[in-house]
Amino acid sequence: MKFLSAPWRWDFISSLIKKKGCVFCDALKLPEKDSLICFKGKDYFVILNKYPYNTAHVMIVPYVHVDTPDKIAPRETIEMWELMNRTMAIIKDKFHPSGFNVGMNIGRAAGAGIRDHFHLHIVPRWDGDANFMPVVGKTRVLSYSIETIFEILLNEFKK
Ligand SMILES: [Zn+2]
Repeated sequence: MKFLSAPWRWDFISSLIKKKGCVFCDALKLPEKDSLICFKGKDYFVILNKYPYNTAHVMIVPYVHVDTPDKIAPRETIEMWELMNRTMAIIKDKFHPSGFNVGMNIGRAAGAGIRDHFHLHIVPRWDGDANFMPVVGKTRVLSYSIETIFEILLNEFKK
C-alpha cells in the first residue's frame, strides 16, 4: 500500500469534524416545519424522534447543551416533569396507546445515540406492538407518517 503525504488535507478534515454539531441544538435553528419541535417551553422543548422506536416517539430536551441531568439544578427540572405528563396526556388522547416507556440513556454503554445533550424519551406502547417484526425483521411498523404525527402534536400543544 502506498501512502500519500497531504498535510494540507488536515485543515479540511478537522474543519469537517468541528462542524459536526448537535442535532438538538441544530433543530432549534431550523424553521418550525422542518425542526420536528412540537413545543417550546421556558427551559425545555418537545421534539419528535426522526428515527422512532414507535409511533409518536418524542423526546423532552433542555435548551442547555449538557450531557447529564445532574448539571441542571433540581428546581429547574420541574418543567421537564410537567412536559412529560402533558406530552403523555396528548399522545393518550390522540393515539390511544396502552402504555409508555419513559426514560433516559446516559452514556454510550446505555445506548445513548446523542450522548452530549441529554434527553428524556417518551415511547408510546400498544398491546401487541412488541411482535416478531422488531425482533426478527428489524422493521418497525409505524401507522402514521412522521409529518402527520408532527402536525397532530404541534396543533395539540398550541391549544
Ligand atoms: Zn446540543
